[in-house]
Amino acid sequence: MEFVTLAGGSASVGEAAWTSFASGVRGGVLTAADDGYGASRRVWNAMIDRHPTAIVRCAGTADVVASVRFAREHDLLVCVRGGGHNVAGKAVADGTLMVDLSGMRSVHVDPTLSTVRVAGGCLWSDVDRETQAFGLATTGGTVSHTGVGGLTLGGGLGWLGSLYGLSCDNLVSVDLVTHTGEYLHVSEREHPELFWALRGGGGNFGVATAFELSLHPVGPIVFGGPMLWPAARSREILSAYADLCRDLPDELALFAALIPSPETMEPMVAIIVGWFGPVERADAAVAPLRALGPIADLAGPIPYVGLQSMLDDAVPHGLPRYWKSGYFNELTDTTIAAIADANDRKPTPISLVLFFHQHGAATRVTADDTAFPHRAVSWDFDAIAQWFEPEQATGGIAWARDVWDQLAPHSAGVYVNHLDADDNSRIKQAYGPNYERLVGLKQKYDPDNFFRLNNNIAST
Ligand code: FAD
Repeated sequence: MEFVTLAGGSASVGEAAWTSFASGVRGGVLTAADDGYGASRRVWNAMIDRHPTAIVRCAGTADVVASVRFAREHDLLVCVRGGGHNVAGKAVADGTLMVDLSGMRSVHVDPTLSTVRVAGGCLWSDVDRETQAFGLATTGGTVSHTGVGGLTLGGGLGWLGSLYGLSCDNLVSVDLVTHTGEYLHVSEREHPELFWALRGGGGNFGVATAFELSLHPVGPIVFGGPMLWPAARSREILSAYADLCRDLPDELALFAALIPSPETMEPMVAIIVGWFGPVERADAAVAPLRALGPIADLAGPIPYVGLQSMLDDAVPHGLPRYWKSGYFNELTDTTIAAIADANDRKPTPISLVLFFHQHGAATRVTADDTAFPHRAVSWDFDAIAQWFEPEQATGGIAWARDVWDQLAPHSAGVYVNHLDADDNSRIKQAYGPNYERLVGLKQKYDPDNFFRLNNNIAST
């Protein structure tokens, strides 16, 4: 079998060596000739169409250890798949040995310690389902089919960020398989520098086979949902939104979105509410939004899992897409005008603009407490082009790039998990002031850059 090597050359693995390895893998292996290979190589973004030479469907840590050691022995390039949501498709690459964690989905809640142990291939829907059975939750992504692995290792923005910090702030420990196939339990007390790096440094330091996260009492009923205005009022509503965000309690998260109406596909501006204080105080908390006269007000009591999956259908698996993203410390009249104008020129009705407001607990961590550096009160902004037909790709990509060209001068960095495939020149900016420290730790924990198919921290 032909693989790509770490240095980009090619390596042949003989049949005897392959069979000996493959027969020991508990979860099984897939090559192009096998049923299931096609589904396993696909990721969320249908723009990504890559063919690993073999996919190891890991069933547990032993399969991950064996894969890393086999790749080491034969000098094979490895990619690691968690939930497969990275827009740039970092989880899959041609000619590689793919370490596929998507079969590792166990979740174990410890209600006494208020922690949850999450296997490395879990989706957020897995975690929310299990933790909510105990009335508990941790900060997870805003789309429930996103992977815990990539999201947490890169930072983790979500509804509970203002109350309980980012996903990475809730990490208690990580089970890690290193570049030599060694197992490490990494926490504040064990390998603390590595623990620091795993909270924002992405997949650069090893394969995380399990995450232990802290839990908090949440729900099961919270208050949330969108309020909608016609796109013609985008400037006014986004400006009012920016003002409201200046003074939000930790219990209230407000995300904004330029989205199509779910019923008519007409362009709309939405403010999506997440209120995690007492439900009976929610109406008072959202009164300033209601005073803006939404044409539809869908905010109300809702199961926490409903809020967590509310955006799922807007970004389904299997569509081609391209996006541009950045942080903004201010939403000024200039940036709002550029964004509203971009919404008027959307390449397809299903393309989106999103703002994730960051405040509260997520911003009370200092920039060097974890590898994730963006701790200012700010907005993560995303222009997401999505389309159905191949001929719409050029227009979609051009739109997102054009939006970004106008906004880039006003931005304050970028979230590493929101970089697209042509954003490699922005990786250093994404790690911000923590980049040099991460380079040092990469040299220590992965000196020959074995884990390189990620938002890579150069190791040489
Ligand atoms: P994958 O594509 O599987 O992997 C991405 C990278 O992480 C790869 O380099 C991979 O090797 C590495 N990786 C994944 N799992 C592991 C592991 N267990 N061990 C080691 N390395 C691993 N981000 C937010 O913070 N908040 C959001 O609300 C949010 N919403 C999103 C919604 C959608 C629809 C999408 C597409 C993305 C969203 N993101 C969000 C961005 C998200 O954080 C990244 O896409 C992240 O990479 C997803 O993780 P994954 O495991 O699904 O990724």
